[in-house]
Amino acid sequence: MSAKIHQFTCLQDNFGVLLHDPETGATAAIDAPEALAVEGALKSTGWKLTDILVTHHHSDHTDGIPELKRKYGCRVVGPRAEANRIADLDETVAEGDTVKAGSLVARVIDTPGHTSGHISFWFEADKIAFVGDTLFSIGCGRILEGSAEIMWNSLLKLRALPDETQFFCGHEYTASNVAYARTIEPDNAALLARADEVTKLRAAGKPTLPSTIGAEKKANPFLRADIAAVAASIGLAGATAEKVFAKLRAGKDTFRG
Ligand SMILES: [Zn+2]
Repeated sequence: MSAKIHQFTCLQDNFGVLLHDPETGATAAIDAPEALAVEGALKSTGWKLTDILVTHHHSDHTDGIPELKRKYGCRVVGPRAEANRIADLDETVAEGDTVKAGSLVARVIDTPGHTSGHISFWFEADKIAFVGDTLFSIGCGRILEGSAEIMWNSLLKLRALPDETQFFCGHEYTASNVAYARTIEPDNAALLARADEVTKLRAAGKPTLPSTIGAEKKANPFLRADIAAVAASIGLAGATAEKVFAKLRAGKDTFRG
């Protein structure tokens, strides 16, 4: 049986996600923004928390860990490179390691840049990836502990996942990301279609995630920094992808859409 997912919103604009393995009953929370919201999700699904998989150390991804661990005795797995910044870790992992949630198997991908030790979890057989604050729909995370080059390389790793991979991320930022992306590629048909879809989803109070790697490759400017038209649109024709990406990211940092 394949994985089941329950996505919910919490805090201001965070996503929480539960990943459930029907075969074993295992349930993993991907990050733990706040204990109360995760518990509410557990109650509504009837699933029992067995694991927390942590993408990075930021408090809006980890604040719920101590209380959830105390109540459920769940195992907490997180990035080895941030082990000293996350409380209550039982296991640490890094690039190439595998993590199981019941019978579901994830490969760990190092995706630094937003934070220095950020990791993503790729459940290859289930065609699902949890990318934390590295990749958003039509956007990417802020570079808080790294360089543009480091972040670009992390995004290239996620871009290389199969097109049909569904990814879940840490925040509902898509509408703002779309507004910025339209200033970069105003005529990109895939982006305009996504813009319509996002407007409809938000008007209906629905989340805009998950998205797929294939869809983002066509519409997300941060995955398109090596495309000539994107470079030209920000006055960097012929520049390296790293330079184009750096300027795209800097532009979003100050964008008020
Ligand atoms: Zn973060």
